Amino acid sequence: MLRVYNSLTRHLEPFEPLTPGRVTMYVCGPTVYGLLHIGNARTILFWDVARRYLEHQGYVVTYVQNFTDIDDKIIARALEAGETAEAVASRYTDAYFADMDALGVRRATFYPKATETVDEMIAHIEGLMARGLAYAVDGDVYFRVAGFPAYGRLSGRTTDDNEAGARVEVDARKQAPEDFALWKAAKPGEPAWDSPWGPGRPGWHIECSAMARHLLGDTIDIHAGAKDLKFPHHENELAQSEGLTGKPFVRYWMHTGFLNLGSEKMSKSLGNTRTARDVVAAFGAQAVRYFLLQTIYRSDMDFSEEAVRAAATGLANWRDTLARLERDSSTAGDEAAAEALAARVSGAFEEAMDQDLNTAAALAALNAATHELRRSLAEQGRGEAPPVSLRPAVAAIRRLAAEVLGLELGPPEAAGTLDGQTEALLALLIDVRREAKAQKNWGLADLVRTRLAELDIRLVDQKDGSTTWVVAPKVPVS
Ligand code: AMP
Ligand code: ZN
Repeated sequence: MLRVYNSLTRHLEPFEPLTPGRVTMYVCGPTVYGLLHIGNARTILFWDVARRYLEHQGYVVTYVQNFTDIDDKIIARALEAGETAEAVASRYTDAYFADMDALGVRRATFYPKATETVDEMIAHIEGLMARGLAYAVDGDVYFRVAGFPAYGRLSGRTTDDNEAGARVEVDARKQAPEDFALWKAAKPGEPAWDSPWGPGRPGWHIECSAMARHLLGDTIDIHAGAKDLKFPHHENELAQSEGLTGKPFVRYWMHTGFLNLGSEKMSKSLGNTRTARDVVAAFGAQAVRYFLLQTIYRSDMDFSEEAVRAAATGLANWRDTLARLERDSSTAGDEAAAEALAARVSGAFEEAMDQDLNTAAALAALNAATHELRRSLAEQGRGEAPPVSLRPAVAAIRRLAAEVLGLELGPPEAAGTLDGQTEALLALLIDVRREAKAQKNWGLADLVRTRLAELDIRLVDQKDGSTTWVVAPKVPVS
């Protein structure tokens, strides 16, 4: 039985979706004004794994992840670059898909864009006005927080108290300082939509309330993002959605911890970011996934290249061990015992995931199972235990890792093909390396070799001076 930590109740709760057998999930996606950093990727990857596990449990999951494609930062970026906001958003939306595909994140069911849901946002705001929860001032519209007494229930906060005095100037037009914008009157040169309050654009929070309701209905099962979104974003969404419908908006609010760099949250505004693109290119998607999933999602974790490299090595060794177990395992013996061994692997994995989607414990369970199989093989070899095939258990480890965690633990041979264009590029790199060696540029020659090894491609120099390659996920320990 899956239990999840609900940020709203601050308890671990049994997971029971609104409609048995079906799960609706909404994850706040990126504001598309730059490349994703590896911290954003941690959050997106984790919710992909959560979705995969729910599907593994037999649920039919409708997974929505939005794009915030209209925002101050996008507009600022467009002005800087002399482009339209639309061009900036579209470029970084494409980049999002390229980077997340490379990381092996499965595509969501729907990717709504804020700019395509403006009618629903306007209707939502009109509904709030009709209920006395919103008021217009000179083309802006604000949410009246005093009209929603439950405000603050999710985050435990009602005002931006950390920043009081510092950044929040008191806007005389608002009825109360905690009231927040639902609609912003157009400023010259900014993209704008017609509305009953004049031309303008939606506020960030109303976007998600409207997109979630439009695609998933009044009540959704899981609403997620990283913990920075709890306040004010999710608190405001909750007020807007429940303020309109009078129904529970979200059954389980869930929040990921931060990926830190240098003990601070990785963030564009602090400038301490590494793009997901660079990290995946340097270490490979498999190593990055293994690294990120080794920490339970609610904890913060630190990024370091050493840790990703260690993950790559660990993964390669794990694959080798499984390949050896498979090769050396007896194929004879009691079939029921072999199946029971495999069932124990699945049981331990699911028990770990059932405790709040604990990928760290789930990986530990698969690792422990691998060690147990090694021990069993040794015992069988010494005649201390009857022969039992380990193959069903090895297959179970590989299947769970691939299906739920997106980790390929298959035998190295199975991974070894490249498409024609990639082969041609590889031949080019081999030529470059040969030329570098001829010029005694050993640094460049090594660079080619090690960077290819990080992509699981190993170069093998032959006696006749030619070089061949194998695709094998074995990372050299330098
Ligand atoms: P943003 O584009 O900043 O709105 O972020 C997109 C998603 O990544 C949101 O769910 C954020 O909460 C999340 N996020 C941003 N920074 C980090 C970080 N350092 N670690 C984990 N998640 C993050
Ligand atoms: Zn959101």
